[in-house]
Amino acid sequence: MPVIIDNVAVSEAHGDAEAAVAGEPAVTSSHQPTLAGLDRSALKSKLADLGVPERQQRMRVNQLWSWIYVRGATSFDEMTDISKSLRTDLARAYTLDRPQIVSEQVSVDGTRKWLLRLTQQGHERSAPEIEAVYIPEADRGTLCISSQVGCTLNCSFCHTGTQRLVRNLEAEEIVGQVLLARDRIGDWPEADGPDDGGLIPSSERKITNVVLMGMGEPLYNADNVARAMQVVSDSDGISLSKRRITLSTSGIVPEIGRWGEEVGSMLAISLHAVRDDLRNELVPINKRWPIAELLNACRHYPGVSNARRITFEYVMLKGVNDSTSDAKQLVRLLAGIPSKINLIPFNPWPGTRYECSDWAQIERFAEIVNRAGYASPVRTPRGRDILAACGQLKSQSEKLSARARAISGAADDTAADTA
Ligand code: SAH
Ligand code: SF4
Repeated sequence: MPVIIDNVAVSEAHGDAEAAVAGEPAVTSSHQPTLAGLDRSALKSKLADLGVPERQQRMRVNQLWSWIYVRGATSFDEMTDISKSLRTDLARAYTLDRPQIVSEQVSVDGTRKWLLRLTQQGHERSAPEIEAVYIPEADRGTLCISSQVGCTLNCSFCHTGTQRLVRNLEAEEIVGQVLLARDRIGDWPEADGPDDGGLIPSSERKITNVVLMGMGEPLYNADNVARAMQVVSDSDGISLSKRRITLSTSGIVPEIGRWGEEVGSMLAISLHAVRDDLRNELVPINKRWPIAELLNACRHYPGVSNARRITFEYVMLKGVNDSTSDAKQLVRLLAGIPSKINLIPFNPWPGTRYECSDWAQIERFAEIVNRAGYASPVRTPRGRDILAACGQLKSQSEKLSARARAISGAADDTAADTA
């Protein structure tokens, strides 16, 4: 996915500087299961497995909760209000590990990208890898997290769609990405930020928003994603408001209403085309749930209002979906749905048959959308020097061709010149 945020100046991202690779982050490996990322009921059953009496379990869960999610504890030793013998038992059976960092890259614009290794499950031949990306701005920070390893859907312009799905992420692996990002950027009380000079926002909290826009289709792993978001939004823990969590979906219509009822985060829809024939090609799940059904689910999304708009993502593909008549049709289609529109410059990857629209064409398209009352719809890609587009890290480690780098760089220059 492209890492995108509201219009911001990106000129500092276009120097000659190569992406900095941060100093070796500590990695751990262990066969004991982690408690970091679990919800209350899972923590309770882990305590029960250790023989903690039923009458104590609730209190112990609350203690663990506060250590893990308020203070960011990474060892049981820190938990001074828990008896030494229970701490010893906990440390023998469990860890507080986060996903393991394989690499951390810091863009010249401060965007940080982690390649993360998950714990290998019984049937897996190797430990699967996922990505998470942090996008800082002056006064807020957005964390983009993954919900699956790869994706079963095959959107033709998305690199993740070319990767084989290995599996759904467990709820704790989804929460683990948030914990790990908070560790790395010092987003715990009294924690120090990184010393690599990367931008960290001045806001009290360094992660102010979470977007489910990394690898995978979150509504195909809805139960685990929902459990994870309940942990992340719990007001006695990380306490990130549901209004600051955005789930992006390619349009799994039957799950949209349920997600709204049960979790009620903000919603983003990967629309990308205004006609079914084209959307069938770009986002093939459209053959199952076509545009009219998708928009109907959006109209009925619980809590949707002018104050809680649905975001429609629209990737700008040269000569494919970027005509001014597409723009007019887009505006007509969304009439009556409280919406925002994000025009996303296509982020090319090696082997793709698409190109990003010319900047002049993006502007013409944006102008029509603007005139219809949608403000500042073009999102600025961030972290392109580190290919901070989820699903693209592995292609980088496979060494991008010079041509692909040139395309990526050229797209950035265009964006910088006209932003
Ligand atoms: N599977 C979900 C969420 C992950 S993709 C979904 O499809 O919504 C997040 C966003 O990035 C989607 O809007 C997706 O269409 C878009 N995207 C994927 N690859 C892209 C690329 N190469 N350039 C621009 N946008 C891309
Ligand atoms: Fe990529 Fe999202 Fe489509 Fe999956 S659903 S292939 S992650 S754009």
